[in-house]
Amino acid sequence: MNKVNMFLVRYAEIGTKGKNRYVFEDILCKRIRKRLEPLGDFEVRRDFGRIYIEAKSDYDYDEAIERLTKIFGIVGLCPVTVAEEFTYESLKNAVITHFKDNFSDGLNEFYNKNNKLITRNGYDFSFKVHTRRVNKEFPMNSMEVDMEIGHDLLEEFEEKGLHVDVHKPDIMVEVELRGEKGYVYSRILPGPGGLPVGTNGKAMSLLSGGIDSPVATYMVAKRGVEMEAVYYNSPPYTSARALEKVEKLGTIVAQYSGPIKLHIVNFTDIQLCIYDNCPHDQLTIIMKRIMFQIAQRLAEKDECHAIVTGESIGQVSSQTMQSLGVIDSAVDFPVYRPVIGMDKQEIVEYSQRIGTFETSIEPYEDCCTIFVDKHPVTKPKLASIEKSEKRLVGKIEELIDKAVETAEIKILK
Ligand code: ATP
Ligand code: MG
Repeated sequence: MNKVNMFLVRYAEIGTKGKNRYVFEDILCKRIRKRLEPLGDFEVRRDFGRIYIEAKSDYDYDEAIERLTKIFGIVGLCPVTVAEEFTYESLKNAVITHFKDNFSDGLNEFYNKNNKLITRNGYDFSFKVHTRRVNKEFPMNSMEVDMEIGHDLLEEFEEKGLHVDVHKPDIMVEVELRGEKGYVYSRILPGPGGLPVGTNGKAMSLLSGGIDSPVATYMVAKRGVEMEAVYYNSPPYTSARALEKVEKLGTIVAQYSGPIKLHIVNFTDIQLCIYDNCPHDQLTIIMKRIMFQIAQRLAEKDECHAIVTGESIGQVSSQTMQSLGVIDSAVDFPVYRPVIGMDKQEIVEYSQRIGTFETSIEPYEDCCTIFVDKHPVTKPKLASIEKSEKRLVGKIEELIDKAVETAEIKILK
């Protein structure tokens, strides 16, 4: 069996949702069960405002941590050592075992309560014991347990540098006496925070192969929103590799957000139609407006509440304030742009943190780069764009219908 068979899940924001709290906790439990299902037999239960995960079979610890620390709603994860008997001796053994299992004589890296990373050699760090005696039948009171455990820990590890600091300890050794058992935890493995996916409706993300839109998709999902995605594919102008890249990016985000339904829309005929009929300096804007219209159609069909994009003010000509406004007016639907105020470098760092960056920079062109003009408009006027779009009337509607109807669907997970 594994050394660690139990985890305590720390969650912050969902604890503040009043009556809805149970709904949020239930959804989080469901998400945890789903993600752990392939790894073994786990019991996930809610208990006095806490969520505990207990392994009932052998499992891959590293893979479990990898999965759990990507679930939105989880702020931190604490490996728990259980004292099976309700005696001080059993508790003491559990605490010593806990230290040996969680720290080593070598380099130790851990996070304190404020999510600050602490690096220490061996046991050269400070601690404080904090006991909660829920079952008052335990023969010592909380203070006595604090003192005795502190004493026994020092006896075992003081020579290796362990010391007490009651004001600013590097780690808190939490002891809980509830039911007929003792629970010990100290380490916090940080999770992504946010809200459990499924607590805030659904959105349709415009997912391209770039750096920005996977970050935008992640950011909205992090607020508890289930995500679908749409990718505009322009074969043969874009390669199969470009589509694979988008699928790979969606799959990386899905490790956090849960499965993403990807709509792959064939956009080639629409692009050619715009190219043949409209002024070339307006191509990108008109193309984006049609992308948004198709996204709205797909979103409404699947009961999504908004469109999400990776646009950021001023990044390129189609992302000036004027361009964004003209693009928005193509749809009658909420559009969210979570990276709107971020610098490119900030988005890059974000994508590195969530793990999409390396894939995003693979060199496969997307459809926008192929049909762009050398001197695109940067301050488009809606009237002028609408005038150009009149030239598409009678041709484009059928192409849009066809693009929506023939969209291919893949579930990324
Ligand atoms: P990204 O890094 O997300 O690709 P970008 O900086 O390349 O963005 P644009 O190409 O102007 O900027 O695209 C702006 C936004 O439009 C993207 O973030 C994405 O949401 C959407 N988008 C662009 N091209 C596509 C496409 N082929 N399929 C789906 N969405 C797209
Ligand atoms: Mg792009």
